[in-house]
Amino acid sequence: MPKIPDDVVKRVIDLAKIEDVVGDFVTLRKAGVNLTGLCPFHDDRTDGNFIVRPSSIAEKNHGNTYRCFVCDHKGGPVQFLMEHQRLSFPDAIRWLGKKYNEPVDDIPLNYTPPPPRPKPAPLPVLEIPRSYVRRTMEIGGDQTLFIYWLKHLPWDDEQRARLQQTLWQYCVGGWKDGRVVFWQIDHNGVPRAAKLMKYLMDGHRDKTQHPGWIYNQDGCRQQLDPDNHEIIKPLFGSHLLSSYPKAVVNIVESEKTAIIMANYYGDPDTQLWLACGGLKHLQLDSLQPLIDQGRTIWLWPDKDGREAWQDVADKLGYDLCRVYTHFFDTCWREEDGDKADVADIAIRMMRTGDKPRKEEPKQEPVKIGDIITEIWHSDEPFLDPVELRDPRVREWRETLRRAYPGKKHRPIPPTSNIDGVRTVGEIISENPLINQLIEIDNDRRTE
Ligand SMILES: [Zn+2]
Repeated sequence: MPKIPDDVVKRVIDLAKIEDVVGDFVTLRKAGVNLTGLCPFHDDRTDGNFIVRPSSIAEKNHGNTYRCFVCDHKGGPVQFLMEHQRLSFPDAIRWLGKKYNEPVDDIPLNYTPPPPRPKPAPLPVLEIPRSYVRRTMEIGGDQTLFIYWLKHLPWDDEQRARLQQTLWQYCVGGWKDGRVVFWQIDHNGVPRAAKLMKYLMDGHRDKTQHPGWIYNQDGCRQQLDPDNHEIIKPLFGSHLLSSYPKAVVNIVESEKTAIIMANYYGDPDTQLWLACGGLKHLQLDSLQPLIDQGRTIWLWPDKDGREAWQDVADKLGYDLCRVYTHFFDTCWREEDGDKADVADIAIRMMRTGDKPRKEEPKQEPVKIGDIITEIWHSDEPFLDPVELRDPRVREWRETLRRAYPGKKHRPIPPTSNIDGVRTVGEIISENPLINQLIEIDNDRRTE
């Protein structure tokens, strides 16, 4: 059998990327600059022993290699194929040539690369004993910087009086090292996970530390990455849903924001505050229990997250879910910054004594034709007394009565739409058609 020319071998080896080759057989996930997965050479149940150093890392730093720290299998793309697929060296080169569309020789490789593996479905996490939750809740107060900071916000008296209860409701706990524990308890009241976060004295998150996680995984304690959607997490605050069956569900990005807003308004019967954990963490899966309950869902992204969440809302296609913008539109100020979330604004308003404005019920553009019809059909004065005092309104009604005597369902002449909301008086004075009617009537009367 003729030898594969050295330059062809070199070309193929230069093209081969270890992450592609191993990735065809092993599900890999990012772990810092490396990739990890379960080792295919031994019965591995612990993610983290089998490391792939991707091809982007320099060769002198062991780039483009794999290694298992348990069974010590290691090497590059060719070794992987020879050991894992039991190919000869020339066949491994032919395999790679086929994968990377680089012609090797005329000898057929009796092998078809397997299709890439689909990403595994997120794993459900198991119940965490409630005693764990309780234990963390006993570490509270001044030992947990977040709670300490929260207690020193400029709440008014009512807000301050209910703060401890808000913290209990959300099962906010503390960790021995001063981190806050946000329990993720599902809508059936089952604790599923906890997020441990370090906050600074100024209420900002210590960005030098990644959140820690507590969860209970079946048997094999895989080191999953909850930030990467590898486990199904309930929305923070989901356990409150059953206690407040009629509340509108407001969803914000961070747990901190949910707690602040819950305490700010303090009216869980009508407004519940849940958090998904971050801009990119609003998963369709986690919204499903809310849709099943037929809840009205308002999404409150941070100021810079509107488009992303509008996208989620669009994909969801659930009529009762919308991105809520009124608060930002009416309360946000320059000084709050472009990345402000709703709690930042609420805290600033607590300091300055500003109050949020209630959203007016949405008003449809008024069709002048509808108003004419309505007035025409009504025998009782339905207009606001102030408007009734406008002589033009009375005059116009009389005009209509004379124009269409006795007929309540006579078609109304076509008219234009008028955007926004005007008083009837304004509409009458601005609408040429009505003025025309009045003029015609005046002419008739003078005849
Ligand atoms: Zn191994």
